Amino acid sequence: MSVPRKIYMDHTAGKPIDSRVLEAMLSYMKFFYGNPFSIHSFGEEPRKALDEARIKIAELINAERKESIIFTSGATESNNLAIKGVANRNADRGKHIITSSIEHMSVLNPCKFLKTKGFNVTFLPVDSYGVISLESLERELKDDTILVSVQYANGEIGTIQPIKEISEIVHRKNAYLHVDATAANGLIPIDVRKDGIDLLTLSSNDMYGPKGVGALYIREGVRIEPILHGGGQERGLRSGTENVPGIVGFGKAAEIAKKEMREESERLSRLRDKLIRGLLESVPYSFLNGHPTMRLPDNAAVRFSFIEGESILLSLDMMGVAASSGSACTAKTLEPSHVLMATGLKHEEAHGSVLFTLGRQNTEEEVDYVISIMPDIVKRLRAISPLTPKELMSNV
Ligand code: PMP
Repeated sequence: MSVPRKIYMDHTAGKPIDSRVLEAMLSYMKFFYGNPFSIHSFGEEPRKALDEARIKIAELINAERKESIIFTSGATESNNLAIKGVANRNADRGKHIITSSIEHMSVLNPCKFLKTKGFNVTFLPVDSYGVISLESLERELKDDTILVSVQYANGEIGTIQPIKEISEIVHRKNAYLHVDATAANGLIPIDVRKDGIDLLTLSSNDMYGPKGVGALYIREGVRIEPILHGGGQERGLRSGTENVPGIVGFGKAAEIAKKEMREESERLSRLRDKLIRGLLESVPYSFLNGHPTMRLPDNAAVRFSFIEGESILLSLDMMGVAASSGSACTAKTLEPSHVLMATGLKHEEAHGSVLFTLGRQNTEEEVDYVISIMPDIVKRLRAISPLTPKELMSNV
């Protein structure tokens, strides 16, 4: 089988911008450069564009009103605003925050920072599939718990959380629920009203929009304080001139996702299942990371015993395939992924993980190609790995 072209299967790390999105953005760079805050006519078009994008994003998540959407510079900022903003504004009610042990660093680190400022933080455990323990959540919620922050789905192992059940438990104790939907938005339907979500983090690039743009949904009535102070844009919750072209692109990406998500996610799920099955069947001592069914449509996370994920990635790269060993944000460290460790894997098991995340451009032919090259790559690496047991050497 020949390599059709370079194969990109690292869509959680970054997605190409949709050409329709780029098209929508261009005139806001070339012609409509006015400030949306301006009173004169140059402000009019950008102001209208912000409004339209806000409506499209509100529609994607079924928010009650467009004003519930606050534009930010991306998921990291949205997570920081949600967590620090709620903590600072509600400290009079309590100083306890709950999150999970498999969150992205942009949730874990604000929580750790707040610990240094006198807040108590509980990190919930997950089971071997990466599902948050509801019993622990119920047990840990106290009268002084003001916020629970959990992700909709995990980009590294694909596991989707039972958000509605989590929300019911959280609201029985009158705490707020913040959900980081960065890995899930544009892939699975999210309904903040049905799911009972108080704050939701969204990211543009994860929906084939431009990088450096995101949003925080804030339900009406949620008490929150800004972390950026300045000119008072975004209802005073996020000062700074809005990135109009980026936001227009984000809005267009949300509109496309709403229309095309269902069909595309079905297609991706079929490719994902074929890839997972193909790898597990053709490579001995290979295992799936994350949940087998409560799983993002784009995510095939597989670990191969006795070898390092990084060496597999280099071999794949030489064969024209780009994949990842986990979160792009932690890829630079040699520490095993905190997500995989939280699911109970040993260091050496976590190290052999490879993450394929599929996208709009991937085809069945590409999936077949990856399945066809993997057994030889793994065999060659195992033959030189000190971790391969001698008695298995001949048939792995
Ligand atoms: N949350 C999750 C679940 C993520 O996967 C990421 C990384 N894509 C982020 C937050 C942070 O996103 P960004 O680096 O775009 O701010």
